[in-house]
Amino acid sequence: MSNKQIDWSNLGFGYIQTDFRYVSNYKDGAWDEGVLTGDATVTLSECAGVLQYAQTIFEGLKAYRTEDGHIVTFRPDLNAQRMIDSAKRLEMPPFSEEQFLDAVDKVVSANADFVPPYGSGATLYLRPYMFGTNPVIGVKPANEYQFRIFGTPVGPYFKGGAKPITIRVCDFDRAAPHGTGHIKAGLNYAMSLHAIVDAHNQGYDENMYLDSATRTKVEETGGANFIFITKDGKLVTPKSDTILPSITRRSLCYVAKEYLGMEVEEREVCLEEVKDFAECGLCGTAAVISPVGKIVDHGTEICFPSGMDEMGPVTKKLYDTLTGIQMGRIEAPEGWIRVIK
Ligand SMILES: *Cc1c(COP(=O)(O)O)cnc(C)c1O
Repeated sequence: MSNKQIDWSNLGFGYIQTDFRYVSNYKDGAWDEGVLTGDATVTLSECAGVLQYAQTIFEGLKAYRTEDGHIVTFRPDLNAQRMIDSAKRLEMPPFSEEQFLDAVDKVVSANADFVPPYGSGATLYLRPYMFGTNPVIGVKPANEYQFRIFGTPVGPYFKGGAKPITIRVCDFDRAAPHGTGHIKAGLNYAMSLHAIVDAHNQGYDENMYLDSATRTKVEETGGANFIFITKDGKLVTPKSDTILPSITRRSLCYVAKEYLGMEVEEREVCLEEVKDFAECGLCGTAAVISPVGKIVDHGTEICFPSGMDEMGPVTKKLYDTLTGIQMGRIEAPEGWIRVIK
């Protein structure tokens, strides 16, 4: 496929096959050096560990063009480190940060035609992932693995501006204490599918998961962390061992403190106090921040003063500053932007 056929402004968030992907195999205790391939398919044993016991982890990051015409990625070292943490928790062999970054660079360079133009709002979404490949029938970790990265161009997350969404407090749990909520495992997403389909059927955009032990504290949604803004302009974000440490959320906390001079609190957040916040947003790579206008807790509505028409003013400032840093309009902290070409 040629990039000339892609209408960047009308791209959705779906899979479009690009020309090259990176593949490395783990066998006899070591990762091989990895290659780019044009083959977009995976052939596996019918008994592969990933197919039987879901031994798979993934990452997500974006490559995009900056104002001055470079192709860059945003803090990919943190994706590499997080994938190492995920691998360890699922008894998979870590893929080194150095090799991860090299693989990202190679995939982006080889598919440079698929990196959307600056200003289009579209990006090349990158999906690193790893899975157990050899036959496993007795329950144990696989001893052979494959690591891959492909890229797919995705459209601007919000077409025509970010409209606040409505979420519900969910009765299903996403993660257990001492479980796998803090790593990016496919199994966490498999678990959340029923809950999100049910939420959509009931007219909600997303689920707010509570801590499964007490069901009194805010955790996150299926794929994004929460930030709240207090009425006196502080940023508050939930602290918990069972939420996924979002790179976007960690970056926003830094930006709030160092660029906007805001106070930042990472602490337990009770569902009880959510009604007192002025603004709420969901953060993740895909949208950076999705504003939340309303949270419904079993019939009780929490409506944020920022309303249902636009992002709250502080959330907007955070959004503009972080996307400005990403796009090269605002100077980035040391090491945040990796220039590929
Ligand atoms: C990936 C993910 C996020 C967002 O993380 P980013 O690094 O900001 O993209 C949040 N929550 C969950 C459960 C995730 O899997």
